[in-house]
Amino acid sequence: MSIDTINLLGMPQSAVEALFTELGEKPFHARQLMRWVYQRGVTDFDDMTDLSKSLRHKLQERTCIGLPEVLSQHDSADGTVKWLFESGFGQAVEAVFIPEADRGTLCISSQVGCALDCAFCATGAQGFNRNLSAAEIVAQVWHANRVLPRRDNDDADFAVTNVVFMGMGEPLANYRNVVPAIEILISDLAYGISRRRVTVSTSGLVPNIDRLGDECNVSLAVSLHAPNNDLRDELVPINKMHPIETLLEACWRYAEKRANRFITFEYVMLDGINDSVRHADELNALLEGKPAKVNLIPFNPFAGNDFARSPADAIMRFQNRLRQHGLVATTRKTRGEDIDAACGQLAGKVSDRVRNRLSEKRRRMATV
Ligand code: SAH
Ligand code: SF4
Repeated sequence: MSIDTINLLGMPQSAVEALFTELGEKPFHARQLMRWVYQRGVTDFDDMTDLSKSLRHKLQERTCIGLPEVLSQHDSADGTVKWLFESGFGQAVEAVFIPEADRGTLCISSQVGCALDCAFCATGAQGFNRNLSAAEIVAQVWHANRVLPRRDNDDADFAVTNVVFMGMGEPLANYRNVVPAIEILISDLAYGISRRRVTVSTSGLVPNIDRLGDECNVSLAVSLHAPNNDLRDELVPINKMHPIETLLEACWRYAEKRANRFITFEYVMLDGINDSVRHADELNALLEGKPAKVNLIPFNPFAGNDFARSPADAIMRFQNRLRQHGLVATTRKTRGEDIDAACGQLAGKVSDRVRNRLSEKRRRMATV
């Protein structure tokens, strides 16, 4: 690929149309091109038989459909599949496909590593290297749909029916690339996934929650993990910048923009840390009467970390307590553990560029 070659993958329709106009072509050909790339998985312009020869030639000269290399695929005994995608300079990110009876969910990454350094997260423990481009985000869905068989028990066109930004990275810290990628996921010329079936999970970047509500309106999941600021400051350090009250206000504003559709609050169950009945009562006080549901995630251990998963009966007690209060609460099934594909275990390959600087900043914050 030459340096001037434009990658059409991950480019929203309006941008492809503008490019076609610049090439002296009719913009509506952009629609044909997008269908070839996403719906039929074709990347060779020569195979796009309903585009004129001259257009194909121009595209070959100036553009490409650039996909990252797939380094490996891992198949779990429970049907979960994980891929490692090359991200340049020896780095890699991961995506995980979780098949269920009524859906096929792809959990995708948005960054190489993550700078937010949550205490219980393998991605955070590796530090941050860079943002993924829109092309690299969309490529994860493109690849899964290409290699997995279409679902045969319903009329879905693709294996992937739902997408969650719950892989590596903080999607709202890469807003610039995540939003165009979402546009492709929901476009009828690509995968046509409804906004309801695309979920952005965030640890709480408040300003971008508001922007997302205005511009994108997909489903929102918020990594709460603690019912008070003292504990959340420890577990999710971004809480020092955007504390729980501010975060929840942004959540309720978001829900209002979506006709009060529920916001999912993720809560990782850490033995002896955040899993007592008292914590459940505190959590209820925050969410009572609001369009909220709670998804409890049994902690998934990884090397070099002292936390332990809450015992099953503690998780059940916590969930029941929330339900007694009238909250909707579920516990996430752990999938793909045998291939290190469970929530929070995605580490890919990251060589950290900024963590030292960041921990220095955190040290300074802690001493103020
Ligand atoms: N950065 C985003 C999305 C990626 S993480 C976020 O934090 O929301 C997806 C979910 O997995 C988050 O709720 C995250 O807190 C949770 N998670 C992280 N590490 C975990 C672990 N070791 N066990 C279980 N869940 C974990
Ligand atoms: Fe980043 Fe999310 Fe992991 Fe926190 S939980 S370090 S925000 S990926």
